[in-house]
Amino acid sequence: MKYNFFKSVTFKLIMLVFIVMFALITASLIFNSQIDKLKKQIDNIYFGNFIPVVKLEKIQDNYRKIISCRTLRYVCDFKKEQNIIEKEWEYYFSSYKNAKEKEVVNSVDKSIKDTFRVNKLHIFKNIVKKIDYLIEYETQMAFKQRKLFLQDYQSMKNYLLYSVISIIVLSFGLIGFIILQVVKKDNQLRILNKKYKIDSITDGMTKLYNRKYFDTIFDNMPFIANANSWQCAFIILDIDFFKQYNDTYGHDLGDETLKKVANTLKDYFNQKYEFVFRLGGEEFGVVLFDIDETTLQSCLEDINKRIVDLGIEHKGSSILDVVSVSIGAIVYEPNSYISANKLYRLADECLYKSKQSGRNKYHIYKGKQ
Ligand code: GH3
Ligand code: MG
Ligand code: MG
Repeated sequence: MKYNFFKSVTFKLIMLVFIVMFALITASLIFNSQIDKLKKQIDNIYFGNFIPVVKLEKIQDNYRKIISCRTLRYVCDFKKEQNIIEKEWEYYFSSYKNAKEKEVVNSVDKSIKDTFRVNKLHIFKNIVKKIDYLIEYETQMAFKQRKLFLQDYQSMKNYLLYSVISIIVLSFGLIGFIILQVVKKDNQLRILNKKYKIDSITDGMTKLYNRKYFDTIFDNMPFIANANSWQCAFIILDIDFFKQYNDTYGHDLGDETLKKVANTLKDYFNQKYEFVFRLGGEEFGVVLFDIDETTLQSCLEDINKRIVDLGIEHKGSSILDVVSVSIGAIVYEPNSYISANKLYRLADECLYKSKQSGRNKYHIYKGKQ
């Protein structure tokens, strides 16, 4: 048989490794992109809200210094405070703002520039309030962004969890599939093996056990009988005038008759401890475990009758106009230590007697074994 690599377990395992690797790489890329997103969120909170608040507070502080300086009328470096305010405002003003924020910030920008142009105390006080409002606004934004960040963080965690679950499910699915394939193959091989074993002990034409299997069972019959203290029986059957049957009806019909006789025996002896064999040609053997002579006798009577009752026409027979069988049998007594060979010979002698005494008869061996 040609080896197909693409159907082999090795190929499937390689595929599994590739798929798991692919899944892991995909998961790590997703993880990476999620981490980047998270980093942006943190930057947004830190640089977008926290830093601006610090800057605004510094501006406010400096305005307050100017206000107290003006109110308490002491000498202060007004220009220095103005520079700091302008520098910090510049930083805050140039950082990213959306359209709505820009509107508010622009108006504050104008007011800040006005404070130093007009240079009036109430304007300074007014700007401190406006910056208060901006700080309040930035703080609210920071809260919103933190909430968003937490939501994103949670969804990222879920994302990762689902990815890991998917990888695990996928891997298990694939492993299961491979195991299933292996088990299926194994089963098929076992069935084939069993079939081979059955074939090796079965006669091709009659489907009875063959001569080879007979030898195994028959040789062991005395041991099994001794071990279980069973009486056992060996029966030998031979179709009467079968040569004439073939001559009259042809070999093919002869085969059909052999099958019919075989089926009758198989149907009759169908219990666990009953074995029917084709010994060769038109000769059959039966081994029965745990049986007494009376039962055996009625069995043999039945068999003679059943074969005749099949009503298979046999014009060449010198005794009947239908097919019949002659039978010889022997009962093995447990612990009588008679060999299988001798048992066979004695049963065969009984068969010979049946033939000699007119056929379609049975004889059970009587005498000392
Ligand atoms: P007896 O009553 O003394 O047994 O006579 P018989 O003709 O049956 O005995 P004999 O041994 O002379 O002939 C057996 C015949 O069985 C010969 C052979 O052609 C036939 N035979 C053996 N095996 C087969 C088989 O597989 N198919 C067929 N159709 N005939 C077979
Ligand atoms: Mg015969
Ligand atoms: Mg014969």
